[in-house]
Amino acid sequence: MSITVFQSREDFQQLNRQQSIGFVPTMGNLHDGHLSLLERALKENTVAVISIFVNPTQFAPGEDFSTYPRTFEEDLSKIEKLATRFPGKDVIVFSPKDDKVIYQEGEYREEYDVGLVKSILEGQLRPTFFDGVTKVVRRLFAIVQPNVAYFGQKDFQQLFIIKKMVRELELPIKIEGMPIIREKMGLAMSSRNQYLDEKQKLEALKVYKTLDQVARLCQKNVNSAQELVTKIVNEDNNWNYLTLRNPIDLSSNLTSDEVVILANYQMGATRLLDNMVVKINEL
Ligand code: AMP
Repeated sequence: MSITVFQSREDFQQLNRQQSIGFVPTMGNLHDGHLSLLERALKENTVAVISIFVNPTQFAPGEDFSTYPRTFEEDLSKIEKLATRFPGKDVIVFSPKDDKVIYQEGEYREEYDVGLVKSILEGQLRPTFFDGVTKVVRRLFAIVQPNVAYFGQKDFQQLFIIKKMVRELELPIKIEGMPIIREKMGLAMSSRNQYLDEKQKLEALKVYKTLDQVARLCQKNVNSAQELVTKIVNEDNNWNYLTLRNPIDLSSNLTSDEVVILANYQMGATRLLDNMVVKINEL
């Protein structure tokens, strides 16, 4: 087992590309959700690359870019602890020494057009977010050139657009979506949960409870679930959105056998993002 920190594009020239490379892009401040992706990358590949880069292009002015938690030393310890369980494997921590490593000037073709997701749901709340995410992921993919990349289903719409981009640009990278890791009581883990005080953390459980309640009803009768969602949203205007969507295209045509319940709840200054995918009308 070895852990190496790469800080530049040139560092990747040392990488033996005959091996299978699994890649986990993150913004750091690692928790068990991130570590579950790294664990899978280590299980399935000889080398796991985890990037730690707080990407400026996915933050809009006024968002938390400058205050986003940066905890590199703690992150490294967590990575080391996990890596000891995989003695035959190598880990590369890619921590660009500055933004220019990712956003070097000049040589890019036009950016990927994210299309519909730019203006609905998360895109409606954060109009430049998916442009920023696809921009950074495309550049990270070009630098790391992984065989497989691992993303959390926690960010369902992000996973959706990355899969779409990889398909449409014919990038030779397999995208794996990984289950949401939750706190004991159900709150989806997120680096932004530390912005919540104790009272808000308890209140935040309502997001998971609501998703669970709607999911159970979807399994029985998706039309009743739809009615319940309308009632819940009308009773509490802190839901930025709570909606049933087709997981194939994010449309409201619930024509496949699964539905994704997408939620974004406003808790003070923090937006809590969560979702559940469930089979419909099967009970
Ligand atoms: P971030 O550092 O927030 O950009 O997240 C990096 C990766 O970790 C993304 O693919 C996220 O979807 C994933 N992730 C974040 N939170 C969780 C979680 N609670 N469970 C599983 N994956 C997660």
